[in-house]
Amino acid sequence: MDCLFCKIAAGEIPSTKVYEDEWVYAFLDIEPQAPFHAIVIPKEHIKSADQINSQNSLVIAKVFEAIAKIAKNENLENGYRVVNNCGADAGQTVGHIHFHLLARRNLAWPPG
Ligand code: AMP
Ligand code: ZN
Repeated sequence: MDCLFCKIAAGEIPSTKVYEDEWVYAFLDIEPQAPFHAIVIPKEHIKSADQINSQNSLVIAKVFEAIAKIAKNENLENGYRVVNNCGADAGQTVGHIHFHLLARRNLAWPPG
């Protein structure tokens, strides 16, 4: 499948890995929007959040388990934000579900 994030998870395209386990891969964003900005993905190809269902939701739980571990590893004790862009209006540009993990600055709310 011609998917950028599947290729990154498979090591076919280089990335700066911050975490990996059986289900999840996480790497630094090439255009960071915060001093710490990682992209956390399930290795299984799911297009976007609206494609989550009872057959594939376990890997999404694994993503959030991984986020808690990354936050601990990276000492994000002041907090962090997890963002998922789903579809065109939200600005999703890569068609493999991913969660932005942003930290180490004050994050405005509402996000705009
Ligand atoms: P989104 O706009 O939510 O679809 O987010 C896609 C994110 O992937 C953006 O923040 C990009 O900077 C990031 N991105 C795209 N290509 C790469 C890459 N090769 N390595 C790391 N991050 C990437
Ligand atoms: Zn993919």
